[in-house]
Amino acid sequence: MDKTTTSVKTFKYRLYPTKTQEAAMYETLRLTRTLYNAALEQRREAYRKQGKTLSAYMQQAELTALREACPEFGSVYSHVLQDVFDRLDKAYKSFFSRVKGGAQKAGFPRFKPHQRWNSFRYKQCWDNKRDSWTTCGKPLDAGKRISVPKIGNVKIKLHRPLAGKPKSLQIVLDVDTWYAVYACEVPNTALPATGSSVGVDVGITWFAITSDGEFVENPRYLRAGLKKLRVQQRTQARRKKSGNRRRKAVQLVAKTHRKIRRQRLDFHHKTARTLVNTHDLIAHEALQVSNMVKSNLARSISDVGWASFFSLLALKAESAGRRVIAVDPRFTSQRCYACGHTGKENRMSQSKFQCVQCGHTANADINAAQNILARALPSGVNDSGVTHVVA
Ligand SMILES: [Zn+2]
Repeated sequence: MDKTTTSVKTFKYRLYPTKTQEAAMYETLRLTRTLYNAALEQRREAYRKQGKTLSAYMQQAELTALREACPEFGSVYSHVLQDVFDRLDKAYKSFFSRVKGGAQKAGFPRFKPHQRWNSFRYKQCWDNKRDSWTTCGKPLDAGKRISVPKIGNVKIKLHRPLAGKPKSLQIVLDVDTWYAVYACEVPNTALPATGSSVGVDVGITWFAITSDGEFVENPRYLRAGLKKLRVQQRTQARRKKSGNRRRKAVQLVAKTHRKIRRQRLDFHHKTARTLVNTHDLIAHEALQVSNMVKSNLARSISDVGWASFFSLLALKAESAGRRVIAVDPRFTSQRCYACGHTGKENRMSQSKFQCVQCGHTANADINAAQNILARALPSGVNDSGVTHVVA
């Protein structure tokens, strides 16, 4: 593997702004959101009136004029304003690619209410010419503070060291807490080969089942958190629309959401880490957007979780020199791993698989995981449809 390849890794740290700094950060959120919505409006208008599609580049050219007309934008660092156009550009690009991909609900870029706008970004932390920090995100006072242009030198808790070359700094508000999120370019370090390959089937009862026969459970604390969330949401619904008790209930729900999100992410990190450390090749089913739309609610909620798990898995694998392959998911649960016979009647029950042709019996999930692995292996299937496992 090429040693010069890199991956982007993010490092997140808690910030402790002063009252003045926090006010400046809230104001930056307000102004960047205003700019985003105005730029979106401008693009819509330009398209409606002249059939023109504006680019981020064209819109950025107007920034100077904007700062003259609305001096309050002078309180926001220029790169932060430019990044707003990049974000809008990204929203448009992913919209167009969803349209192209035939998604049923492509979701046109939307105006951002304040609940949906919680970060701004400094897009250049590193001066490549001088090979040193710019003023964006530069650690000061032996790592006790960082430089945040137009906000100040903000207190930070660097609980683990930054690694690689810092590219950008994002300031994020999570309910009532501020974070600095650095994106760094980190050189890939290939893990030693283990000679092992695995197929992973994801499910609702179990988080994952591997072709090795390992069952990965959905953690209990996550289920407990979801239960708590349902109770809090009911309380929130009972409260009057305006009022203190309602506001408090809304915040409680937001905090529980945040806790679940963190726990889930942590669980995904650990599960992905174990898989990447243990296997050279990891195969899973490709999730298809069209499937998600058709399927039931429980399934689609899980799909969202799996999609983020799979992208995390792919990232970790990339930086460790491992391979992750998403395979065609069709019939993986109906196909007999031993003889290749495919049919609904093979599936005795939710958990039991028994082939009507060769009599092979197995746990249904493990059989599916083995089929998933077989599909990812080169020439795993010969002419007679018999699958060979390459150990
Ligand atoms: Zn069979």
